[in-house]
Amino acid sequence: MKCLICQKEAAFEGNPHRPFCSERCKLIDLGNWAGERYRVPTKERPPEESHGANGNRGNHED
Ligand SMILES: [Zn+2]
Repeated sequence: MKCLICQKEAAFEGNPHRPFCSERCKLIDLGNWAGERYRVPTKERPPEESHGANGNRGNHED
């Protein structure tokens, strides 16, 4: 099998880091996930923002 990160052929049998070849690639993948998480809305955020009315925030014209 090939490592998902570096595409290097690696023995996955008995490999604690699979589907990655090594801990290094596993950490890289974790880093990718950490980046993705910024796009996911958290539940601390108010769910309904489009309530109308207050749509014109930052409408500053000099
Ligand atoms: Zn790898």
